[in-house]
Amino acid sequence: MAPSHGVIMEPEKEIPVLREVDILVIGGSQSGVAAAACARRANKNASVLIVEQNGYLGGQSVSGLVVHYEFREHTNNKGQVIAKGIGKEIIERVVSKGHSDPLFQEWLDGKGPPFKNVPDGRAHGDIPLDVNDIKLALLELCEETGVEILLHAKAVAALPLEESSGFPASRGVFVETINGRFAIKARVIIDCSANADVAWWVGGPDAVHVPGVNVMSMQAYAWIENVDLEAFVDGVWKQKSFQVLYPNDEKQMRDHVHQGKTIITRGWTRTLDEVYDHEPELIDTYDELGTIPQIYFWLKTVKTTRVDCDGKMKYIGTFAIEGPQFRDSQVDPLAVTRAEINQLKGVHLQARMHRYLPGWENARLDRTVSRIGFRQTRIPRGIYKLTKDDVIGHGRFDDVIGRGSGHDIGRGNPEAEFGYDIPYRILVPEAIDGLLFGARCVSVEDETTDDMLTALNAHRGISTSMIVSQAAGVAAALCIKTGIEPRQVNIGLLQEELRKQDVILDPPS
Ligand SMILES: Cc1cc2nc3c(=O)[nH]c(=O)nc-3n(C[C@H](O)[C@H](O)[C@H](O)COP(=O)(O)OP(=O)(O)OC[C@H]3O[C@@H](n4cnc5c(N)ncnc54)[C@H](O)[C@@H]3O)c2cc1C
Repeated sequence: MAPSHGVIMEPEKEIPVLREVDILVIGGSQSGVAAAACARRANKNASVLIVEQNGYLGGQSVSGLVVHYEFREHTNNKGQVIAKGIGKEIIERVVSKGHSDPLFQEWLDGKGPPFKNVPDGRAHGDIPLDVNDIKLALLELCEETGVEILLHAKAVAALPLEESSGFPASRGVFVETINGRFAIKARVIIDCSANADVAWWVGGPDAVHVPGVNVMSMQAYAWIENVDLEAFVDGVWKQKSFQVLYPNDEKQMRDHVHQGKTIITRGWTRTLDEVYDHEPELIDTYDELGTIPQIYFWLKTVKTTRVDCDGKMKYIGTFAIEGPQFRDSQVDPLAVTRAEINQLKGVHLQARMHRYLPGWENARLDRTVSRIGFRQTRIPRGIYKLTKDDVIGHGRFDDVIGRGSGHDIGRGNPEAEFGYDIPYRILVPEAIDGLLFGARCVSVEDETTDDMLTALNAHRGISTSMIVSQAAGVAAALCIKTGIEPRQVNIGLLQEELRKQDVILDPPS
């Protein structure tokens, strides 16, 4: 965003210090909570605080309705376990509350994947957890591990820089709250903002890369409720041809409906033709919003309600739909504002278009997001940049801190199932001390050498970002124990503690 009205000097003022902690985690998504809880488990004497701008924990899972934590990032389609640790524990905690898709419980009970008699493994990334249970489970994990949280507090700048092992370090941040600006002091900061905020404040443009706008879009889900699921399934098996169909067997699909399990379809090109025939203005207006002009009709149930209608059971579904996508700058507030406004208008139009689907005649919007989802904001510069070759070539590293599955790269791709080592060096800034990267924002190759941003894409998977954050938490705890900087952490000790915390560091046999 180019400033168009000149500049103004911010006056100097005294800022009260609200807290002084050992470890400060910026951002309270499942990744921020993973980092904070694992830091406490690794070092009970370390004080840990999460600051979060929202009024709840859960990040984009809650604000953007991304409730599809992917167990295929933990167990591949051959049934080999590739990741456990805090990511699996968080899923267990959410599932134990009882409102998530029963397929999660089956997975936890060791019944899949591969699921017996379920033919299409590709969809195993699209099974939903319950959004309200995610919020509560994360809160409880913080309470149990003694992590302090500060909500409604946005970190806005680094504290004045210090130097220790030859690099600048910010020992804390300023936060804005409803009661004004405060300082929070910390020995180590873990940046789980998902935007590499701290690296950018401390190191400026040299410490981060902002990718161009052509690769991964801004986008959001919306939920549409009141769908007659039996009528929908009838329609599925009349049309038959889809890009994704889960389960891809009629009886199993009906069983899923009756058991409250997810069903997924992607296709429905004939429905788009019907919208064109009857209400072309819906599509014309949608196209004018500046979106990528494509409607996927990628539909996945997130909730099934059984209703007894005079002794006959009716199954009413709530579906997640993929909203419009925008290729624009994800760090320019004006572009983001435009996208927020247009995605809201877009999903309202989509909800009307979706009424042409079988069983969707009385469907209506249930939830829209409170923030559009970002896929590429800033890429921080670390000691090592993970590459496309590392991800697809099953990279092995001595400083492995967990195993990645490749997220979308692994979807239905047997070549990727073996996974790759995630090296500690992608969590450590190239030239900043006192800071670790967590969440989806780690040091990866950018689009100047890989125009598909493969490594960035691999690391935006929720489960993979929890694996990374667990390691950041444990590394920060070791820094506090021995008074060192993240770049000085003893890899052997880090790996030992991660193994104690149930992290898998070896590839599947
Ligand atoms: C449309 C869409 C669909 C997706 N589908 C899937 C999927 O099916 N499966 C999957 O695994 N992944 C999916 N992803 C990717 C995934 O949602 C994200 O990569 C992941 O949720 C990011 O988690 P995170 O912890 O890195 O970031 P976030 O969830 O964005 O968390 C960052 C947290 O930090 C807080 N924060 C940020 N800045 C500050 C600050 N300065 N001060 C205080 N707090 C701050 C935010 O409020 C937020 O709570 C999808 C993404 C999109 C956009």
